[in-house]
Amino acid sequence: MLVTLNEVMKIAEEKKIAVGSFNTPNLESLQAVIGAAEELNLPVIIQFAQCHEPWIPLDLIGPIMVEAAKKTSVPVCVHLDHGETLEYLEKALEIGFTGIMYDGSILPYEENLQNTKKAVAMAAKTGASVEAELGSMGKRESGSGEAGGDDTKIYTDPGQAKEFVEASGIDALACSFGTTHGIYLTTPKLDFEVVKKVRDLTGNIPVVMHGGSGVSREDYHKAIQAGVRKINYFTYMDKSGGNAAAEYLKSLNTEEPVFFSSISMAARDAMKENVKAAMKMFALE
Ligand SMILES: [Zn+2]
Repeated sequence: MLVTLNEVMKIAEEKKIAVGSFNTPNLESLQAVIGAAEELNLPVIIQFAQCHEPWIPLDLIGPIMVEAAKKTSVPVCVHLDHGETLEYLEKALEIGFTGIMYDGSILPYEENLQNTKKAVAMAAKTGASVEAELGSMGKRESGSGEAGGDDTKIYTDPGQAKEFVEASGIDALACSFGTTHGIYLTTPKLDFEVVKKVRDLTGNIPVVMHGGSGVSREDYHKAIQAGVRKINYFTYMDKSGGNAAAEYLKSLNTEEPVFFSSISMAARDAMKENVKAAMKMFALE
C-alpha cells in the first residue's frame, strides 16, 4: 500500500529500527525491492534521484513506482531522492510521490532553509512528507566527485540542525556523520555522537543516513541505536545486479545466443537477495 514517509518513519520509530530506502531507476531494481519487502513483510521506501534522470526520466518511472507501491501488501513510500530544484519536487508531487527530499546542502545555510521551507509548503498540499539535508556527504548521489571525494565532507552541526528543523518544519533530516555516496575507498569512520545530539536537540527527528552501502553490520546497528530511521542504500545493490549479469554471460558457451531478458532476470534476482540482506540488517533481524 502507498503510504507517506511520515507513516513509514512512525513504524521505524515504534520498532526502533531503520527502514531501507532503495533507488529504483529501472524495472529490475523496482521488482527486486518490492519483492524483497513483500517476502520479508517489512515496510520499504522506493526512491528516485534527480541525478538518475539520464537513465530514465521521472515522468516515465515515477508513475510506475506509484502504481507498484499501491499494489503491494506492505507499506511503501515513494520518495524523491536528492531533488535539486523546486520545479523537480513539484513534478514528483504531481506524479503522486509521498515523500520528497530537497537537497540544498551545497547552498549557503539561509538559502537552503528558505528553499526547504518552500518544499514543506508544497508538500503540505498533497500530504507528502519532506526530508532535507544539512552538512555535506562529500560526493554527490551519482558517486561522482573529485578524486578522494571526501575533501568537501562537512559534518552536520547539531545546534544548527535544531534551528533548521524548527524553522523549516521538515519530517526527516539527512545528516552527514561520516558516510559517503558511492563505493568506499577507505573504511568509513562514523561519528554516532552527531546523530545522538541531533536527535536530543530536535525532539527525536528521524535521521537519514545517506551512503548506506558498504557499511559494516556493527556500524548499521550503532547508527540505528543512535537514531537513524531511514537508510539510503543503492550502490552495492546495483553492483550485485551488475556482477550477476557478468556471471551469467560468463556461464554461456560461445555458441549460445545471448538474450537481454535473461541478463535482466539474473540481475533482478541477485538484487533482490542483496536487498533482502540489507533490509534484515536494518530491521535488526
Ligand atoms: Zn544521498
